[in-house]
Amino acid sequence: MKANGKPKMRLAPILFLLASVVSACHPPYPTGADDELKPSPGGRLTARFFGVSTILLDDGNTAIITDGFFSRPGIGRLLFGEIAPDPDRIGWALQRGDVTKLSAVLTVHSHYDHAMDAPDVAHRWQAVVIGSPSTANIALGEGFPASCIRLIEHDRQEFTIGSFGVTAFRSLHSTGVPGGAAAEGTIDAPLRPPAGRTDYKEGGTFSFLIDNRRFRIIVHASTNYIPGMYAGVEADVVFLGIATLGKKSEAFASAYWREVVQTTKAKLVVPIHWDDFTIALDDRPLRPAPYPLEDFPRAMAMLRALAGKDVALRFMPLYAPVDIEAAAGLPPRARHNPLPAPSSCP
Ligand SMILES: [Zn+2]
Repeated sequence: MKANGKPKMRLAPILFLLASVVSACHPPYPTGADDELKPSPGGRLTARFFGVSTILLDDGNTAIITDGFFSRPGIGRLLFGEIAPDPDRIGWALQRGDVTKLSAVLTVHSHYDHAMDAPDVAHRWQAVVIGSPSTANIALGEGFPASCIRLIEHDRQEFTIGSFGVTAFRSLHSTGVPGGAAAEGTIDAPLRPPAGRTDYKEGGTFSFLIDNRRFRIIVHASTNYIPGMYAGVEADVVFLGIATLGKKSEAFASAYWREVVQTTKAKLVVPIHWDDFTIALDDRPLRPAPYPLEDFPRAMAMLRALAGKDVALRFMPLYAPVDIEAAAGLPPRARHNPLPAPSSCP
């Protein structure tokens, strides 16, 4: 593995550069009206999507977010410079998504496109950061208080955040990411930004089962799995990471689908981690990560075949609230808890 890791690492910058050129002239993915969930602000439990695997869930009482990644540094900085949270971009996106409260940031792993902004986002509302010891070192390096970090220390560890129950599942990171080997491992000391892209080491990968009044959402951000990881677990919705899926075999895609979607009996699957996150967020649609880094059309073709008629496969709109219970086919429920949850980390 190490032997062919070296040429891949040298190839990675060239691939990234090529891809960014392709991406600049690449059209957004043509989602039809049937492919995208409709904004629906009145729901009891709303979800909002901000690209990669950043999803905000809000039931009126409590709001939580996965990753909270908004800085999206450009290709030049990623390859030849250093990166750091961008407070202006973070602030813009939070405002664009009408985020007014937050109790927790759940990080799926410690790569920069998941954990780099988490402390900045959490700090704005005295929210807690939940993640691995590596994510804790990102937070400490950014001056985030240790008392507001909740460590994930074992599989199926449970957290209660206001009206949400969260269970963290151990999983595996996707394979086949160009330059990925350089960002394996753990972050063993506080990481002070600016830092190199590969200083944000993976630190173990998790997915989350999020339960809100028995409506169950799985956020499974990285395109891989541990066989049997969801044994005995059921969910209404899966936010399914599909980065690198288009370059994988059909056998892998079916096994992935079986382990994460069929086992949990989810009836709605929302693809995530499909966009080119070297492009800043604005009011234009997201663009898929381009070939040769990804083969997005092939990934979608495989997913459509796997979903068939039994499972709805839908994209989230950007920033807009979606009544995620109605999207999963449940009858509308009224908002229950009008009072905001107290700050979880005073
Ligand atoms: Zn990653």
